[in-house]
Amino acid sequence: TRKLTVITGASSGLGLNCAAALSKTGRHFVVMACRDVEKGKAVAKEMNMPENSYVVMKLELGSLQSVRDFVFNLKAFKSARPVNNLICNAAVYKPTDPEPAWTDDGFEQSMGINHFGHFLLVNLLVDDMSKSKDARVCIVGSITGNTNTVGGGLVYPQADLGNLQGFEKGAKQPIAMADGKPFFGAKAYKDSKVCNMMTVSELHRRYHESTGISFSSMYPGCIAETALFREKRPWFRKAFPWFMKYVTGGYVGMEEAGQRLAQVVDDPQCAKSDVYWSWNGGAQTVGRWAEDGKPRGAGGSGGEIFENAQSDAVRDRKTAMKMWELSVKACGMT
Ligand code: NDP
Repeated sequence: TRKLTVITGASSGLGLNCAAALSKTGRHFVVMACRDVEKGKAVAKEMNMPENSYVVMKLELGSLQSVRDFVFNLKAFKSARPVNNLICNAAVYKPTDPEPAWTDDGFEQSMGINHFGHFLLVNLLVDDMSKSKDARVCIVGSITGNTNTVGGGLVYPQADLGNLQGFEKGAKQPIAMADGKPFFGAKAYKDSKVCNMMTVSELHRRYHESTGISFSSMYPGCIAETALFREKRPWFRKAFPWFMKYVTGGYVGMEEAGQRLAQVVDDPQCAKSDVYWSWNGGAQTVGRWAEDGKPRGAGGSGGEIFENAQSDAVRDRKTAMKMWELSVKACGMT
């Protein structure tokens, strides 16, 4: 029987390419959790995803009610079968907005969608997933949340949750930032990614042993052509993929990035919990797996997968615990 694999933000970029890769293995039935169901259906067809290998379901992460409704509908759809894999991939990035935009619940959108929506979603599914063997949760991270790396550490601004003064005050309008300081779009995204990666470590500490679920994060490489950069200026969108490809070597094509994310839930090698998966070596458009004839995970990829180190900011247990407690409160889970 196929595994039941849920992917958020499966209507574009990394999520869509991952959904397509998984559906084509024949080993997964993919639930594409999308804010725009019609778009999800259209792009799944464009990607030639096999019929009966997926379903598109409504999930608006900017609404905690929509997260709850999604889980309700998912449970009705799948009945007693547990969810095997959950991939939290959806995100927004708003580097040029001068003012914050808010979710239905009054969170600043990058933190609300990228972190709080997913935080509630995972927590609502842990029980169900504990009934499955080899269950895996992957929350897509980023080096932008990793102050050890060039992309995360040197490129201004840095992620910094401070002492979570903003979360302490409820994290809702007019409070835009985790640290309670004035809105700064590029930093809000990085902060949300640090919360994503901290959530993985906390999930591991809290639930891995008792449920057997593996919790991981991953960095796909820089997919400079996705819609994530839609708010950047045209010259940037043209120069950035080139820069990443020829100067930093961090560039990865969308299809291959999708295969990397798929590998994290599909490859027996990736069953380990509390890992931040990354790939080294040159990304290749034509997967190297074809050369040795051994498919790696869902089609394999050019770079070699390895267990990357979390940044000190992400490993800061005290802040992670506080982040968890305050997120529980903000999401109304108590
Ligand atoms: P895209 O913008 O192409 O995809 C983002 C997805 O999230 C889309 O499907 C979008 O839906 C969905 N989404 C946005 N807001 C909501 C919402 N409120 N509710 C539900 N779904 C929503 O970006 P990428 O594919 O590049 O990004 C995917 C992940 O990869 C993110 O977590 C990002 O942080 C991460 N990442 C990306 C990197 C890159 O270089 N691009 C590098 C490192 C990490 P819709 O299709 O309707 O817009």
